Amino acid sequence: MTLGGDRAQRSRTTAGQQETDGKMVIREFATIMLVPFTEVWSSARAQARVIANRLPRWSGVVAWLGCAALTATCSAQDAMHRLTPESLQKTREIIESYESQRKQVPAEGPWKTVRANLHVHSELSHDSRGKVESIVAAAKRAKTDVLLFTEHPSQEKDFFLDGNKGLIDGILCIPGAEMKGMLVYPTLSLAPFSAAEPSELASIVRSRGGHIFLSHLEERMDWQLPGITGTEIYNTHADFKKQVGLVKAMKNPLWFIQIASLLKKYPQEIFSALQSYPEDYLKRFDELCQVHPHTGVAANDAHENVGIQLKLGSDPKTIVVADALGEELVKLPRLAIESLIPIPADAADGTVLLKVQLDPYENSLRHAGTYLLVSDLTQAAVWDALDDGRTFVAFDWIADARGFEWSALQVSGGGDARQEIGSSMALSAGPIRLRGRAPLSATWRLKRNGETVETSIGYESDFEVKQSGVYRVELWLEGLEGPQIWILSSPIYVK
Ligand SMILES: [Zn+2]
Repeated sequence: MTLGGDRAQRSRTTAGQQETDGKMVIREFATIMLVPFTEVWSSARAQARVIANRLPRWSGVVAWLGCAALTATCSAQDAMHRLTPESLQKTREIIESYESQRKQVPAEGPWKTVRANLHVHSELSHDSRGKVESIVAAAKRAKTDVLLFTEHPSQEKDFFLDGNKGLIDGILCIPGAEMKGMLVYPTLSLAPFSAAEPSELASIVRSRGGHIFLSHLEERMDWQLPGITGTEIYNTHADFKKQVGLVKAMKNPLWFIQIASLLKKYPQEIFSALQSYPEDYLKRFDELCQVHPHTGVAANDAHENVGIQLKLGSDPKTIVVADALGEELVKLPRLAIESLIPIPADAADGTVLLKVQLDPYENSLRHAGTYLLVSDLTQAAVWDALDDGRTFVAFDWIADARGFEWSALQVSGGGDARQEIGSSMALSAGPIRLRGRAPLSATWRLKRNGETVETSIGYESDFEVKQSGVYRVELWLEGLEGPQIWILSSPIYVK
């Protein structure tokens, strides 16, 4: 009896205390959020300590949230400063102006240009819940024709046998895996070879007609692997890892609430704000190509797993914060959340009050693409293009790259002979010109063995080759903060 009474008394006290705590949380939280961005870190920490002392129950969470919010907004080292309404609107206007300036460029070459996305995860990977139908629908909206999946291998499913393959609603799907730091597209199940070393795996896959690309160059030292098809020359996740402020901000559920309305209006601009020039990747690509031809591809590393959900829990006084995959992160006091988002009085347990997704498939697939010059939309034709290096990478989020062409013309006894990206040719067989056309006027930077040998501006480019070397071209557009990389070709090899 006494114990029961005590317990009832205690629980009433706790409930009353919680209500008071909740109101204080709102007041103190508002104070923290209103601190000008120029305020120093220590001020945030000091305020967080004050709150922590006053609110024994929720202090840890709230202090952490307040600190994280301030840290995030204080950082101007990276994409965080591009996530203001003004900056996002300017980016939108730049995208619209490129769209209005586009010229129709009829294809001159013998190949069809199709757009592919490599390094895509689906629900076959432990860190994605993406269903193939929704990924295919997103690919169509992003104007992608080919999806080259790369699942994290698991015991439950065989990524090759159970993976997405064939034409699904008009999109060519090819199964593959992310294994041993490589993108692996085999022609057989790799289940018996899961313990193989990277070089052994590469030779198993390549000797049976499959493809191997180096992945996540920023994480690896052993990048000179013989016999591979090529390498990522851009990886979205590598760009994301450079975003110190953004990564820090994303640890804070309240940052997601803050960004939710902007995200609705500017989903692509927010996703693509993290993009930078992949200098390290290209440096290694240039070195590799001087040893042996390598095909350059972009890695979307698409998972659709970055975001939060706010749900009503079974405890009416708390709101559950879960990650984009539904895993619970933390519980917050309902009173604090009620001041930020309306909660319907009749909402049942489990109701999702807010879902903020930073990386929907559509936006990650549109961000960057790998264009392939193919004879038709079949896996065999895709395989040929990857084998021959007939690829270029484009950041289509800023402007659609369809229409870009770059090739070599060699004048010999029989007239002009056109050679595509990926070709090898000898200067001794006749004069060579490298010619290109694009749907937008851009800055063309022609690279020989990684060094810029010519820069020109316009819809077209024409360069007479005088020296042997590995040539590739970069196209740049004016972006929000100066020149913005748009297109990166694979090389043409001149001996
Ligand atoms: Zn991945």
